[in-house]
Amino acid sequence: MDELYEKWKRTVEMLEWEGIIKSKEVREAFLRYPRYLFVEDRYKKYAHLDEPLPIPAGQTVSAPHMVAIMLELAKLKPGINVLEIGTGSGWNAALISYLVKRDVYTIERIPELVEFAKRNLERAGVKNVHVILGDGTRGFPPRAPYDVIIVTAGAPKVPDPLIEQLKPGGRLIIPVGSYHMWQELLEVIKKKDGSVEIKSHGGVAFVPLIGEYGWKE
Ligand code: SAM
Repeated sequence: MDELYEKWKRTVEMLEWEGIIKSKEVREAFLRYPRYLFVEDRYKKYAHLDEPLPIPAGQTVSAPHMVAIMLELAKLKPGINVLEIGTGSGWNAALISYLVKRDVYTIERIPELVEFAKRNLERAGVKNVHVILGDGTRGFPPRAPYDVIIVTAGAPKVPDPLIEQLKPGGRLIIPVGSYHMWQELLEVIKKKDGSVEIKSHGGVAFVPLIGEYGWKE
């Protein structure tokens, strides 16, 4: 475990040196919840590498730099209401919960991954993440409106329900683009009058967001 943690610390230092981890808060979250806690045993020794890794059901846990980019962009503060779509391993949800210091809801469409994430979160000692089985393209109305919604799968377009479930002034971080591994990372800001402003933050590569307002199965 110590060797894994030493390697993980070096990854965090590298991400800081590269200017990808910018804030003390994201740094602390990464150090508190290393990625190796959220992968199967056979992948733990690769968890410090800055690459996506396989998780069950043919999905991936994102590369550390990608997760750091999205969390820095999200500017999470204690107390804000955040929804994550695409739970996967539960790693990003654990980091979000560390940053907002309150309950976080995260939605996953594959039952096997709901169970995988719950096990990982429990073993990592994360108590304030609620993993919901469902289609995240519909959002999660029971906890809306949200300050921030983070989508960790690639959509064909911005799903309308997610904009509806943002607070005025709220922000949606979402990869939008093609089905096969090329999207633009968008920040969608809902203005006080209900209109939206969209900023692009460059090219990314995610597995597809599949659902009513995403890609069809
Ligand atoms: N955030 C995850 C983590 O920390 O491990 C990685 C997410 S992985 C890149 C994308 C996930 O989105 C997959 O687990 C996939 O099953 C899920 N997904 C795809 N479409 C979805 C939908 N409509 N609702 C919820 N989850 C979805």
